[in-house]
Amino acid sequence: MAQAGEAPTVARKVGIYTRISRDDEGDALGVARQRDDCERLADLRSWQAVKVYEDNDVSAFKRNVVRDEFELMLKDLRAGLINGVVAYDLDRLARQPRDLERLIEIFDERPRLEFATVTNDINLATPDGRTMARVMVAFANKSSHDTSRRIKRKHLELAQQGKSTGGAAPYGWRKDDRNKVDPEAAKAIREAQRDVLAGVRIGTIRTRWQQQGLGNPRAGTKRMAHHHVEQILTSPRLVGYQTYHREILFGEDGRPVMGEWEPINTVEEWEAVCVVIAERKRKDPGRSLARRYLLSGIARCGLCKNKIRGQNNRLWKPGSKATKYTYQCSVVNGGCGKVGRVGEPVDRLIARLVLEEQREKAAATGVPIEQQWAKEQELADVVGDIAQLLEAEKTKQITVSTLLQLLPPKERLRDELRLERSRFFKEQKQKQAKGNTADLTEDEFFDLPIERQQEIILHSLSAVIINPVGRGNRRFDPDLIDPVWRE
Ligand SMILES: [Zn+2]
Repeated sequence: MAQAGEAPTVARKVGIYTRISRDDEGDALGVARQRDDCERLADLRSWQAVKVYEDNDVSAFKRNVVRDEFELMLKDLRAGLINGVVAYDLDRLARQPRDLERLIEIFDERPRLEFATVTNDINLATPDGRTMARVMVAFANKSSHDTSRRIKRKHLELAQQGKSTGGAAPYGWRKDDRNKVDPEAAKAIREAQRDVLAGVRIGTIRTRWQQQGLGNPRAGTKRMAHHHVEQILTSPRLVGYQTYHREILFGEDGRPVMGEWEPINTVEEWEAVCVVIAERKRKDPGRSLARRYLLSGIARCGLCKNKIRGQNNRLWKPGSKATKYTYQCSVVNGGCGKVGRVGEPVDRLIARLVLEEQREKAAATGVPIEQQWAKEQELADVVGDIAQLLEAEKTKQITVSTLLQLLPPKERLRDELRLERSRFFKEQKQKQAKGNTADLTEDEFFDLPIERQQEIILHSLSAVIINPVGRGNRRFDPDLIDPVWRE
């Protein structure tokens, strides 16, 4: 490393960051070698490496591990003691998206910072570089999850033997002995399950548990996630089934592996609860949401142009087939309060018009949905090339410096292709999830969750103007409803 006093004063001062992780075991890419490569790179760029930050044998992937030197480096960077970072690769520098964002934040605050890694051609000082870095860290994060899954294999073995895998006792069992039932918690679970069978919503149970401090809320807060309550009430552990990653484990004989703990439910009780919750989800995905009206916030008053919301209308005649809601300009919301309309015919009219329009548009363009990403082979090839290069260096067929010359363009291509592919599949998934609205019937439309209905409406319309009616005019007049089409 160059000494501060000897280097030309114009050189930018950078820090070198190295880390050795458990992943390096076997083909240990030692800290010393990382440092050498980083220093060479700094030299190439005419930067002055003034400090080396070295985190040893900790995994950046583990969320709670504090990397002292990494923290120190961020501090120095922020304070202006160094004006850039050189690292061996992005993986070692920031495996957690959170760490990367903290680093990027500093690059935002302090323009003209330098950045380089030996193996990737990434520059955090540019928006493109940041995007690419985010993608790469996301990928690396995923592969770390894969690694940590391998480490968990011993937990699987323990689970298969019906042994506990450690960790905090699940709700329902005693904290000091997770094989023994905690009577109070077990009672709360059974009560909640009975409620669920009687039609009570999970959200209601969650609220009650939060108020009473039940269900193992996180320390310091009484809040619990909806899915957490659901998991407690449907956990296979309740009947003694051993699980692994929330799936029931089956033994060689095809039967569930039984744990050593005391069960809380019979299989029949537990299955009933699971079935009811599963069915409720399927039938009524929007049920947990409060009642919302299709054109709330989309409709506007024809007189004052204020946004109009839907509301229950108790004055609506009992026995009428129309649902009892209206769109009402409201003084409370800053409107004139003079315009209102029965909701259901407005919703029907607007849905029909929008679906017709989208059908016509689809017929005119007729864009087919592609299923295959065209460059799959190209990506496979470049991934293969990279593996070959790494192997060649490992077996000393090529030198490190040759490797470092050949690798970056390949890696860049690979990362670009991966980014392209993930975008392609994301769009595919979104298209699939949204279905083909052009084929929707009116009834199918109204069966969709309200958010989807609104999204479809807003795709075609920017607003729906509801104009006032004359006195005594009780019949619904479609001409007084003005859809405002998007260009
Ligand atoms: Zn109004």
